[in-house]
Amino acid sequence: MALVNTHFLNLQENYLFADIAKRVKAFKVTHPKADVISLGIGDVTQPLCPAVTEAMHKAVDEMAHAETFRGYGPEQGYDFLREAIVKNDFLPRGIRLDIDEVFINDGAKSDTGNFQELLHWDDYIGVTDPIYPVYIDSNVMIGRTGSHRDGRWSNVAYMPITAENNFVPQIPEGRPVEVIYLCYPNNPTGTVISKEEMRKWVNYALKNDSLILFDAAYQAYIQDPDIPHSIYEIRGARKCAVEFRSFSKTAGFTGIRCGYTIVPKDLTLADLDGKRVSANKLWLRRQTTKFNGTSYVSQRAAEAIYSPEGKEQIQQTIDYYMDNARRMLAMLRSLGYEVYGGENAPYVWMKTPKGTSSWKFFEQMLYGPGVVCTPGVGFGPSGEGYVRFTAFGSHEATDEALRRIEKWTKYC
Ligand SMILES: *Cc1c(COP(=O)(O)O)cnc(C)c1O
Repeated sequence: MALVNTHFLNLQENYLFADIAKRVKAFKVTHPKADVISLGIGDVTQPLCPAVTEAMHKAVDEMAHAETFRGYGPEQGYDFLREAIVKNDFLPRGIRLDIDEVFINDGAKSDTGNFQELLHWDDYIGVTDPIYPVYIDSNVMIGRTGSHRDGRWSNVAYMPITAENNFVPQIPEGRPVEVIYLCYPNNPTGTVISKEEMRKWVNYALKNDSLILFDAAYQAYIQDPDIPHSIYEIRGARKCAVEFRSFSKTAGFTGIRCGYTIVPKDLTLADLDGKRVSANKLWLRRQTTKFNGTSYVSQRAAEAIYSPEGKEQIQQTIDYYMDNARRMLAMLRSLGYEVYGGENAPYVWMKTPKGTSSWKFFEQMLYGPGVVCTPGVGFGPSGEGYVRFTAFGSHEATDEALRRIEKWTKYC
């Protein structure tokens, strides 16, 4: 009898975006003429920039000729891309990385989900709440999170980020957290933390021999020069942190698939005898066993964003989205809503008026102005009473959504 991995049966059924899609579909059935605008799901809308598509065409042509054809590449990625990353994303910020510390992947979701495989099954994990659901669910699958009650897992430390604490996660009291997931700029709240706050976490990890899994998927959206882009801007982080990055939001690669993970050689984990093992070596072993590399064409596409033209072109698209975020913040604020984030990230996090629940307000927005947002509670218990709007729409769709919200708020 092939028995199932019963941990999978503990996964909570409702997949947030499937739930949203279902409710939007139900609305459309009863309102066939309604034109719904989605500021819900976190996918980009603007096309790849010319520098990227030119590099991809060129790479495809190389694949079409025996002399330049490429088969399996190195599992950890081609050196041309790893070198471009070290030189452009880290050196200018004073961070020196060896290219062997860079692992190219098919997007940050895979590695943020997979990295926990290197950890002991009963390590105690901590997450900010609300949070990107992948971090918890990948730990549920392996049986690390305990039992589920009232929207919480018994073996997970939840660190609330809400308006009450200014969206700054506090170090939990009690049992030390062994693995800490941090995502900054944050999805879903769109908020950031200062270097001083980040330093607290690095010091905590060094003191408790904990591991920080730092997701920097939105670092390209940071506008404020004092906000750190990488956890390695903090002294000591090389000994306690892994960093995940993605080209998805930086350069519109959600459909191309390419990202990377930094696993510093100074980072070690303890075995049960207290002997130290290199996380970099373990991760390399894991990747060479389970992963056969990201496509050559995708890696050439990613390399192209580091050319002078590529840099300028992706910046234009980032500016375009941040322009949406500014318009959203300005309009929603002027209507009297309490809004957060949106200054260094493409997400605006809004408190629902009069303590309305996230899902109730979601329905009001759908049946009123016909705008789809994401219920905050879908990202964790502390997201209750908030909704998320994304800035990834077109200017036209964003403006139209805001016009409708304005009319609805003032006259309904
Ligand atoms: C979008 C996103 C990613 C990137 O996912 P990819 O697999 O690279 O497309 C990673 N982390 C967070 C928090 C995200 O929102």
